[in-house]
Amino acid sequence: MITVRVPAKVNVQLGVGGLRADGYHDLANVFFAVALGDEVTATAATPGEGVTLSCSGPDAAAVPLDDSNLAARAARLLAAHHGLAAPDVRLHIAKAIPVAGGMAGGSADGAAALIACDALWGLRTPFETLLELAAELGSDVPFALVGGVALGRGRGEILEPLPVGGTFHWVFAVADGGLSTPAVFRECDRLRDEAGTGSTDTEVPTPDADPALLAALADGDAVALAAALANDLQQAALSLRPALADTLRAGTEAGAIGALVSGSGPTCAFLTKDADSAAAVAEALRASGACRTAHATYGPVAGAGIPA
Ligand code: ATP
Repeated sequence: MITVRVPAKVNVQLGVGGLRADGYHDLANVFFAVALGDEVTATAATPGEGVTLSCSGPDAAAVPLDDSNLAARAARLLAAHHGLAAPDVRLHIAKAIPVAGGMAGGSADGAAALIACDALWGLRTPFETLLELAAELGSDVPFALVGGVALGRGRGEILEPLPVGGTFHWVFAVADGGLSTPAVFRECDRLRDEAGTGSTDTEVPTPDADPALLAALADGDAVALAAALANDLQQAALSLRPALADTLRAGTEAGAIGALVSGSGPTCAFLTKDADSAAAVAEALRASGACRTAHATYGPVAGAGIPA
């Protein structure tokens, strides 16, 4: 039996370029791994049992347990890569990452399943190969393997690790229900068209990482990072879910130094000045009624791995 811990991510910068002919957007995506995470356990199954899934945690009912689950897809992809036609494994997901929350929870489970099955089956797949398989599974999966802080380009799958000068303290406010990532990108395009700026990659400049944000990360400077937080999907998430404006306001009024929608939302992320402040902001958000629940956490942390 192998258990792998895997972090959720928040995008401290999410720059969205125009819509490409292949249906994707070019991104300048600064991923940040936080200690809020899932655990995926792989257990040997009897031959012929196939890949089976179970899930526990408050959001377990929202997690699909069929072949669409990224953990199951990861197990099959790894097996196929090694020429194993019909893999057998029991996968259990202990789910703490909000589902469809803009924190890449499904991608995290895919990355964790790659590591767990690789160890269970004794495959010793090189890390570079795991990264390639991860990119096949989805744009956010490679980062869940790498962890820390990284700049993602292209669809987000080309990763450059970034230097970080300290620990940052975060609060995540979890909303009721999720938002579909493709729907939020479509709304972003629609709002750009409505504003007259155009939404295609010939009309929208290719986004790049903000030097002030990279310096704030390298310096471990929470106040500077708070000022540089930026998410080009935030307006679209707020347009689809106007109540998120109240959540952002509640966290800021409770003492957060920075606030933004996490990825495609609806989870809201708050940067705080220290761990005590994070605990107080989380408590205030839970009491405010502006979210379903709130978690204080920190980062950056390592990517998917077997705890020591
Ligand atoms: P991202 O930030 O990468 O866009 P997200 O955090 O918004 O993703 P996920 O929690 O990854 O969203 O879930 C998106 C959808 O993926 C879910 O609604 C669910 O149908 C599907 N899914 C597939 N595998 C998983 C998994 N292991 N855990 C949760 N959802 C999964």
